[in-house]
Amino acid sequence: MAETEAAPGAQQFIPPQADTIDELRAAATGCRGCELYRDASQTVFGRGDESARVVLVGEQPGDMEDQKGLPFVGPAGRLLRKAVDDAGIDPQHIYLTNAVKHFRFELRGKRRIHQTPDRVHITACRPWLVAEFSRLRPDLVVVLGATAAKALLGPAFRVTRQRGELLPWPASAQRPEDFAGVPVDSAGKVADAPAAQLLATIHPSAVLRADDRDAAYAGLVQDLTVGARALAG
Ligand code: SF4
Repeated sequence: MAETEAAPGAQQFIPPQADTIDELRAAATGCRGCELYRDASQTVFGRGDESARVVLVGEQPGDMEDQKGLPFVGPAGRLLRKAVDDAGIDPQHIYLTNAVKHFRFELRGKRRIHQTPDRVHITACRPWLVAEFSRLRPDLVVVLGATAAKALLGPAFRVTRQRGELLPWPASAQRPEDFAGVPVDSAGKVADAPAAQLLATIHPSAVLRADDRDAAYAGLVQDLTVGARALAG
C-alpha cells in the first residue's frame, strides 16, 4: 500500500473569483493538494445538471473514470443511474461528484487496484466539495458510502447505522457553516442556502461486491426512494 504523505490541501488551488462549476473544474486540473495527482491520469471533477435538485457524492473516481475524466462512468456508475431511476428520480437531472477527485490505487502487475482514500486525502480535497456546493442548490444531498460520509458529515457518522434516514442539510454537515451560504458571484455570499435534506446510503460499488447483489441493490433503491418521496412531498 502506498504511503500517505502530508498534504497541503486544495484550498490554495481554488480561484476565489471562480463563479461557475466549469471554472472550478478547470482550476481543479492543476490541483496538487495531496499526492494523489502524481499517479492518477487526471482530476475527475463533478458533472451533471448544475441546477439539479439532487446531488450525489461518492468516494473517488475508479479506473475507468480516471481514464475518461468523468465521474460514475464505470460499472458502479451505471448501476447507480439505474437505481436512481428505479427510485423515481430522473437520472438526467442529477449532479454527481466525489469526495476525492483523483483515483487512488496500487499497482499489482499491470492492474490498478482501488485503494480507499485516507483521512488526509479526504481532508485535502474537501475544499473542492465545499466550492462545488457553493455553486449548487440541491433539495436533496445523497451521500454514497463511508468516504463521502466522512467528507460531509465527519468521522463519527456510520452509514450502516443511519442509511436511509433523512437529515437536515446543511445542519447535519460537519462544519455546516461551510455549506450555509450560496455565493453566486465573486462578490461573495449573497444568499443563504435554503434548507434541504440529506440521506446516506451505500456506495453502488458495494452492491457490485455483495454476495447477494439483488438484496444489496434493493436496499440501495429503497434508501433512494426515501429521498424521492421527500422531493415529491
Ligand atoms: S485528490 Fe483532491 S486535493 Fe488531492 S490532488 Fe486531487 S484534487 Fe487535489
